[in-house]
Amino acid sequence: MKLRYYADAQLQEFHDRILDLLEKIYEMHGIPVEVERVEERFGPLSNFPGRVTATPVENVYERDIEQNQKLRSNLDRMPSRVYKIGTRFEIAGHVSLVDESVIWISTLRGDAYGHGPRAEEATPIDFLADVAESPSNRVCLECTHLLNGSETFCPNCGHELP
Ligand SMILES: [Zn+2]
Repeated sequence: MKLRYYADAQLQEFHDRILDLLEKIYEMHGIPVEVERVEERFGPLSNFPGRVTATPVENVYERDIEQNQKLRSNLDRMPSRVYKIGTRFEIAGHVSLVDESVIWISTLRGDAYGHGPRAEEATPIDFLADVAESPSNRVCLECTHLLNGSETFCPNCGHELP
């Protein structure tokens, strides 16, 4: 399991907060974090504690999103309506949870502020903030199963959730 940030977010504030949360998650939980830099906007990421790659955005879209049935069943919106608008890719600023392939990806950008009800379930910053808390109620850190926040144990591996 690892977390992947499609950089750079449009706003530097969001970019910096996402990077800070990824570092915190890596340090606190030992979860690998990586940056896939699809649109460079800000400075070099020299102190990032994980892998930084720069893959063309259309390849990232094909690899992580298109034809990804598992991802499709975990999202409440069609990936082709969120990450590719016409010929324009809308991936920068999102964060995904990767097991063998991408199993979850944010569908809104930034944080929940201004997005409306239940947006915190869809934004990268709220997702990362939740995973950074120990323990997370969004994802089972034992087996990466996605949680709805009300379980007392992981329905996939049985790990007890406090
Ligand atoms: Zn589990």
